[in-house]
Amino acid sequence: MTKKECIERIRAIERKCRGPLTEDALQMAAELQQQIATASDQEAEPLKRKLLRLRAESRYRRGCGYDFNKTIVENPWDGKTRQVKCPQCGVVTTYTAPVF
Ligand SMILES: [Zn+2]
Repeated sequence: MTKKECIERIRAIERKCRGPLTEDALQMAAELQQQIATASDQEAEPLKRKLLRLRAESRYRRGCGYDFNKTIVENPWDGKTRQVKCPQCGVVTTYTAPVF
């Protein structure tokens, strides 16, 4: 595969930054974390799932739009998992680099 084809494959999936959590979502996340801290293991599991869903949902995000594919194209394609910070809004996310 040529470098151009590799880049096309990376860009075939849209990876736009959704921005930081809204104030409401930050409040809800803090409450969930408090509940998790005092819950039994069994009680904590559904709360942890709820927290993950909260962080994943676009409606709880302020929006940003930065194209994380730019970062993925620029970094090495070595299969390593990297933590990267959005240059526009500062949100930290994780991705696994492709291998070609
Ligand atoms: Zn961003």
